[in-house]
Amino acid sequence: MSALPAPPTATTPRSGPVPAAAAAEGRATTGARVEFRSLRRAFGPTVALDGLDLTAEPGELLALLGPSGCGKTTALRVLAGFEQPDSGEVLVDGEDITPVPANRRDAGMVFQSYSLFPHLNARDNVAFGPRMRGVAPAERHATADELLELVGLPTHGDRYPHQMSGGQQQRVALARALALRPRVLLLDEPLSALDAKVRLTLREEIRRLQLALGITTIFVTHDQEEALSMADRVAVLNAGRLEQCAPPAELYERPATPFVAEFVGTMNRVPGQLTGDGSVVVAGAPLPVDGDVPAGRGGVDVLIRPESIGVTADPEGTATVVSASFLGSVTRVLLDLPDGASVKADLASRDATELAPGVRARVTPVRRPVLVVPAPESAAPEGAAPEGAAGDKVDA
Ligand code: ATP
Repeated sequence: MSALPAPPTATTPRSGPVPAAAAAEGRATTGARVEFRSLRRAFGPTVALDGLDLTAEPGELLALLGPSGCGKTTALRVLAGFEQPDSGEVLVDGEDITPVPANRRDAGMVFQSYSLFPHLNARDNVAFGPRMRGVAPAERHATADELLELVGLPTHGDRYPHQMSGGQQQRVALARALALRPRVLLLDEPLSALDAKVRLTLREEIRRLQLALGITTIFVTHDQEEALSMADRVAVLNAGRLEQCAPPAELYERPATPFVAEFVGTMNRVPGQLTGDGSVVVAGAPLPVDGDVPAGRGGVDVLIRPESIGVTADPEGTATVVSASFLGSVTRVLLDLPDGASVKADLASRDATELAPGVRARVTPVRRPVLVVPAPESAAPEGAAPEGAAGDKVDA
């Protein structure tokens, strides 16, 4: 058999669009392009996929992220061939594979549970796929040993699953998924059964391996830190549909929808007043609005990140510090606003020394674009705002 790529040497997983980023970084892009086209799948009254359109570029690690039940696993299972869509197609390198049975699709899959054969040792588990394809024992065992070395288990070939830790079993599962040299690697919450430290290590190792092999990888997770730290792009699903697919920083900095804004990272939702000229006033500060601006003037909710809120201790201020949690270089301060809302602000710890619980403070949003959504009590912000409601307060 041809030699597998040497174990990766990259030290830091990087993110960015593919394949441009892949090419710039000199990564292999041997992987396939995977397209979900208008996929729909219902289970009785439950619509798991509601017209999903999404493309994974060759060599890309694409994370599927979303709340429980949004259809992530169903999308992966449709791609693997374990589930048939009611309508829509799955294309791999332009070829419609929707009718192709699972065992003839060129995909390797790793599941949350280790799913190794308990009666086979690590080498035979990895060699299982090649064995089913009729590969001769010497060749399949050589492949297995090479892959076990690639996943950091060069001396574990003779061990049975019960003789290995959870992290080791997932490495074997990964090696097994790669044994048939798939064009697509599918990972369904592969780290969620592992303890936090092992999870972090394996996260990096999977990413290094994926970069070195250049294999298109679709990774289902409900852990946003995992998605943001590992993926080239993150696809956020909601109720069976795609909300946004973007590189991690773009998803965080420029969420396309209020759902993404509130689902990814920490977000404050505070009351504001539309001014009618496309701005919104929050705590006395006019902020530019990104995205749709509801018609008219009036009350809306404003979505604003904790790091976009400035706080200074001020006896005349109208906000009150509730708590200050020291997190190292950053301190997260929780404040009550006079209108009953509360906000979280992330400050450089050196700027937060005076912000003890009970201290009065002035809140000043940083001037950068924000998203607005209709306030719950006034679903459509219509009519003029009460005179003086917008822009005349100097702080919260
Ligand atoms: P989680 O993060 O909780 O695993 P998910 O985003 O992966 O969720 P899916 O497992 O794809 O979501 O499920 C989507 C919806 O379809 C859910 O409401 C689920 O209960 C339903 N569903 C999935 N598979 C089946 C099935 N075989 N029979 C009935 N309902 C199903």
